[in-house]
Amino acid sequence: MRVSEANWHHIEAYLKNDDRAILPLGSTEQHAQLSLSVDSILSERVAAEAAEPLGIPVFPVVAYGITPYFLSYPGTISLRQETYIAIVRDILDGLKRQGFRRILIVNGHGGNQPAGSLAIEWMADNQDCAVKFHNWWNSPKTFAKVQEIDTVASHASWMENFPWTRLPGEKLPTQQKPMIDLPRMRVMGPDAVKAYLGDGNFGGYYERPDEEMLAIWDVAVKETRALLEGDWA
Ligand SMILES: [Zn+2]
Repeated sequence: MRVSEANWHHIEAYLKNDDRAILPLGSTEQHAQLSLSVDSILSERVAAEAAEPLGIPVFPVVAYGITPYFLSYPGTISLRQETYIAIVRDILDGLKRQGFRRILIVNGHGGNQPAGSLAIEWMADNQDCAVKFHNWWNSPKTFAKVQEIDTVASHASWMENFPWTRLPGEKLPTQQKPMIDLPRMRVMGPDAVKAYLGDGNFGGYYERPDEEMLAIWDVAVKETRALLEGDWA
């Protein structure tokens, strides 16, 4: 149940029988020819599909994340770590205030990892609550499925090109971009990163057949759902 499609009566009724909720985390940042909202679209959607048969509420995605390295790309917005932590902490506090006790954070962007550390700290302060922090795209089964299809896959490559993240009319390069040198990129400022990366793809083909993408998606939805159904204590 997407919270954007529910009213307070629905949440009130749900909380009489269950205390699980999902918070998706995204980012607004360059993804080469794909949508700037790839990380938000994917985390919110995988969360919604995983939760659907269980009726668990999926709160609106936090659509901004921590992405300072892409700041020279038009359209990229980055929150400072302290801002981000404060936002996620307030949302966790708000979920607890409403009666939720088991919270699955579905993260769609590597730079948001400080929220994972926050979740551990927050649980120490709220021992009646459990938070699972799930990087949906590199969890064991999903990442194994990606690797089984094509080992050259990274940010803004084919592995993020789903029917719901690509933009109509975009012509994509057909060649396989060689993998970038990530440790080298990590010591660059935003202008140097843009000069080094060019279009923004870290490496790999720009698209692969939908049949393969939907097979990855199926694994990701099931892997995310298993966290909702699994042990919380
Ligand atoms: Zn992404």
